Amino acid sequence: MKKAAFFHKIDRKKVQCVLCPHKCVLLPDQKGICQVRKNVKGDLFTENYERLCSVALDPIEKKPLYHYFPGKNILSIGSVGCNLKCKFCQNFEISQSNVDESPYLKSYTSEEVIQFARHEQNNVGVAYTYNEPIVFYEYVLETAKHAHENGLKNVFVSNGYINPEPLEKLIPFIDAFSIDLKGFTKAYYEEMCSGNLEDVKKAILQIKEAGKHIELTNLVVTDVNDQESDFYEMIKWIANSLGEETVLHISRYFPMFKFKNLPTSHSKLKILFKIAKQELDHVYIGNMRTDSEQNTYCPNCDSLLIKRSAYEVELMGMDQGSCIKCNTRVMNYA
Ligand code: SF4
Repeated sequence: MKKAAFFHKIDRKKVQCVLCPHKCVLLPDQKGICQVRKNVKGDLFTENYERLCSVALDPIEKKPLYHYFPGKNILSIGSVGCNLKCKFCQNFEISQSNVDESPYLKSYTSEEVIQFARHEQNNVGVAYTYNEPIVFYEYVLETAKHAHENGLKNVFVSNGYINPEPLEKLIPFIDAFSIDLKGFTKAYYEEMCSGNLEDVKKAILQIKEAGKHIELTNLVVTDVNDQESDFYEMIKWIANSLGEETVLHISRYFPMFKFKNLPTSHSKLKILFKIAKQELDHVYIGNMRTDSEQNTYCPNCDSLLIKRSAYEVELMGMDQGSCIKCNTRVMNYA
């Protein structure tokens, strides 16, 4: 356990966590919605500090990041807990668990993680992922600082449900963000995820304004957030607020946790892909094999730049992030 970085004491007993927009008010021995922050004798502690349930070397495409060091690996770490309660969570065994219940947790110091990361092949850095890294914030920050000191990159894979001040302190140490934009209606975030759309939009804008690399993922849940009109509203907001060059991953849902609707159909994903392509240069379909919707094409001359099949990556028409044929800049990192 470690004392939490963001909380206020309300009185001698009560504390308020201000890490995420829930702003949980907790009495002694009470835990927050995330299940991993606890009031211990009038102070707030993070219970999952240095407790990891997954440490694995993944292709960076799996985060998903398609425009950040394509073809490289990234050491990926995750713990337990989440500050949202998505009924369809695809990772619920760890995200909806806690340190008392999870059988998978092992102790790792941030130095140990960096030692692993330094010795892995073709590895670009450390990704904070699997469960929601906001809820192991203090450990992320500490590890990310060590990573930078060792010349490694940091990737934050998140639901974006974080307050502006902790995000501001985190941003300098994170090189690339993969953020879920789960839907585009207030009701969807409230009813399906127990969160708030406006707070997520605010965090996305804050990351963009800080000049960080950001890619968005929209999980399309059958009959729930797959209305084309709402989807188009989201696409217009992305194009107008973040830029038409913003990378969007449209991801296939499978029945999981409390939600049993059928998996997203291939035809629905292809329709949404076409809608997104009206406004955005780089749209990909994830969690499904496709002929071409995982490839990267030059937005100017349409040359094939990266061919992808599952997590196999073939760099073709690109040099140092620019199209070889017309020299259009496509990504910041080759
Ligand atoms: S991080 Fe956890 S304890 Fe803190 S406000 Fe969010 S849900 Fe509540």
